[in-house]
Amino acid sequence: MKKKKIAILGSTGSIGKSSLEIIKLNKKNFKIKLLSANSNYKEICNQIKLFKPSLYIITNYLVYIKVKSQIKNKKIKIYNNFKDIPSKLKFDITIAAIVGIAGLEPTIQFSKQSKKILLANKESIICGWHILSKIIKKNKTELIPIDSEHFSINQLTHNYADADIKKIYLTASGGPFLRRPIRSFKKIKPNAAYKHPNWNMGKKISIDSSNLMNKILELIEAYRLFSFNPIKYEIIIHPQSLIHAIVIFKNGQSKFLYHETDMKIPISNAIYNNRVNIDKIIKTSNNFINNLRKIKFENVDKKRFPIVTLAKGKYLSKSGPIILNASNEILVDSFIKKKIPYNGIFETLKRVFKDRDFNKYAVKKVPNIDEIYKIDNWARNKTLEIISKNYEKYW
Ligand code: NDP
Ligand code: MG
Repeated sequence: MKKKKIAILGSTGSIGKSSLEIIKLNKKNFKIKLLSANSNYKEICNQIKLFKPSLYIITNYLVYIKVKSQIKNKKIKIYNNFKDIPSKLKFDITIAAIVGIAGLEPTIQFSKQSKKILLANKESIICGWHILSKIIKKNKTELIPIDSEHFSINQLTHNYADADIKKIYLTASGGPFLRRPIRSFKKIKPNAAYKHPNWNMGKKISIDSSNLMNKILELIEAYRLFSFNPIKYEIIIHPQSLIHAIVIFKNGQSKFLYHETDMKIPISNAIYNNRVNIDKIIKTSNNFINNLRKIKFENVDKKRFPIVTLAKGKYLSKSGPIILNASNEILVDSFIKKKIPYNGIFETLKRVFKDRDFNKYAVKKVPNIDEIYKIDNWARNKTLEIISKNYEKYW
């Protein structure tokens, strides 16, 4: 049997590395054909040595030059740009795991070049689903969302229609600040926000999880991916993160998907179409009944997580999600660089949506790719402008 050709976009990240660890256990059937990263020089060199991919795309120019000058193996081609990859190259599986809107165009491109796409990059779904979905349909690409909540909804609702479904719960762990006194939120430092109680993830998604922005992004992701009425979704706090979605059907049955907190579970189930022995890949606690005994649910406290109040109106309609996503990317980055306080994320998001130019950029219903970037750019610049006016003492 021919080896399956694998591409991993964002291979130096948390999802990328987990995917590589799964693939490397089955060298007989898989060949790592292409990897992509941005700036993590050490990890890129490490991956080249370990996996000998035929192609490596390094988007940061300086890192690209540095790596290229050092690679003696002529069989490994190093590129600086996704667009330089020949379109005739085909892959069996692509794992799309770049963080942020930077993943949009690569994900669109690889949806044309790949038979199956495992999609982690939620920002490309939020901003460009209307483009991506058409390409997936046209090329008959198989798409599996691997964000654990969407992986679960996808499994649970297979063969059901909107008319069969009463409610869909998206679970949120509540992150590291679920029990922290609210009055001390102003003092939260990036290091504390990275420390997610259940998951080990990249910095951006860890911060998004700590204030529940991740759930707002996931709500939009679910609206885009599935054809269920948006009013059926509800966010519920579930501190153990063992249940990833719950679907209440009109027929009196309810289903949930349980798995332990390791992204290798949805990733490997997506790779192997659910026919995989997970014990050969990770160590699970194998303690289903005991774990079930510990499971708790609670409603979202809007005072603790004011960002959930953005799950309505202008934030979610038209190009609101593109603005929300872009502005949030800038805010998270500014918080990481200590240019704004933790509460500044929510405060600034609200200000961007109140700006007098907002309506100019929030009108298009189905923007093309250039228009997406125009809207995204406006939101980034506006956010930076508001930050510089309101958080001077942090500069
Ligand atoms: P990480 O920050 O750990 O990794 C991000 C990857 O993207 C790295 O390989 C990084 O390269 C690359 N990258 C960053 N910026 C650019 C850029 N401008 N151009 C090209 N590549 C870039 O992120 P995660 O793995 O945590 O998350 C990846 C995606 O998956 C996100 O969209 C996230 O929301 C989603 N997701 C993640 C989950 C998780 O458990 N981590 C769970 C569910 C969804 P380099 O390191 O070399 O700079
Ligand atoms: Mg998720």
